[in-house]
Amino acid sequence: MPAMDYLLNSPLYEPQQHRTASGILNSSMKLFSKKFPGWKISLMDLVPPESVHRPSEIVNICREGKTPFSEFWEEYLLPVLQRYDPENVLVSLSYLSQLTAGIDLVLFLRRAGYRVTVGGSLLNSLSRTGMGYELVRSVLPESSLGDGSSFQGFNSGNDPFLSRLSWPDMLEEWNYISGRPVIPYTLSTGCYWNRCLFCPDSSRKLAVYGHETFERFISTIPSTVMDKNPIIHFVDSAIPGRALEGVLPLLRQYRLDFYTFARPEGWISRLADRLNESGCLMLQLGAESGSRSLLDRFLKGIDPDTSLEAITNCARAGIRTYVYMLMGLPGETDNDIQASVRFLEKAGDSVDFINFSVFNLPVNCELTDRASEFGIDLLDHDSPDDSIRLYRPFIYNGLNPRIKARRAVSEYYSRIPSVAEALKRTPRWFRTSHFPLIEIPGRKSGISSDTSK
Ligand code: SF4
Repeated sequence: MPAMDYLLNSPLYEPQQHRTASGILNSSMKLFSKKFPGWKISLMDLVPPESVHRPSEIVNICREGKTPFSEFWEEYLLPVLQRYDPENVLVSLSYLSQLTAGIDLVLFLRRAGYRVTVGGSLLNSLSRTGMGYELVRSVLPESSLGDGSSFQGFNSGNDPFLSRLSWPDMLEEWNYISGRPVIPYTLSTGCYWNRCLFCPDSSRKLAVYGHETFERFISTIPSTVMDKNPIIHFVDSAIPGRALEGVLPLLRQYRLDFYTFARPEGWISRLADRLNESGCLMLQLGAESGSRSLLDRFLKGIDPDTSLEAITNCARAGIRTYVYMLMGLPGETDNDIQASVRFLEKAGDSVDFINFSVFNLPVNCELTDRASEFGIDLLDHDSPDDSIRLYRPFIYNGLNPRIKARRAVSEYYSRIPSVAEALKRTPRWFRTSHFPLIEIPGRKSGISSDTSK
């Protein structure tokens, strides 16, 4: 299939061709979903016939018979399990959208006689800032909580789990859909800032794993993968500048390109050229708003002027920028919206990709506890009691700010020509793993034959 060939074999994607190829693949997924009435399958998501917020319903669906995953477990996973014969299989769930596959996988592993442990950031979020960990545990008693430094059922001695992490043996054999291998890795768990009032991760302790742990991990990457010019995706909640600076020589030494999420602080402008020279293809920057007073109110600790400098300096240095804006914070005024419009106008075509998200209030966080101080009226949940709940419905001044925020995106932000261009360029499918491969004039390609920066 030419679309698949393009996505598998192009080390650099031309934006229009990428859109076309992934659109074709997504249509094939839609066709495939016709085999499973009630299921909706796209390249980004898999929606089961019942709400994914209700684990007891999901487990019933998976028990009833064939799911879109069944053939995959039988044909691909079973031979791998038979080859490696593991004592314990660890299943990691990061997003709610993975819960259905996770439940189906655990049922399959149980039937096949394997011992299973389930963990991951979804379970931790549900236990800390949402509601529903017990609901998941009632159908997956193998669930366990942790901060990622250890894993129940896995003995790493006195060392943190991460220091024993190796490159997954079988990943080379799979058709991982990307023109270059993308390797997820983290330099830290928790967040060094840890002050935002609506942080979904606030109770996680910060742990930074530096140079030594990373070098050991790199040494486990097989040469067949290294030959394909891989990209490291640092998946830290917010990468600590000093830890990143510490591994830049290693990244250069191994000729590894990378991208990551960073708070748009002063160190980015200071390091921009060195980041580029060390293989930085893209920074995901949470600028969130152009209104300093709004950001200060929620203790975001970022400043629009500094964010703007970080964005423009990255672009100047040839680093792609993926800017995250957060709309509909409680109390956001028309002036705040106009400040964000001016911010984006000033950033202009330094913004390569953009995401507008609309604020959700975590069920449990400092802002929810102190809601009345911020003029927030908490509403009752509108979902049944046996539902997973990540967010709490609320109103501000009698209104739902989410409605106004969505309107502002279409009426103001997306009418800014450079924002419209960034929205068009931002791939709808595959999300960030393909972004660093999107060809943008003036931005580093990481391909040695390419002469752009
Ligand atoms: S930067 Fe993100 S992870 Fe860190 S405290 Fe703020 S919301 Fe939480």
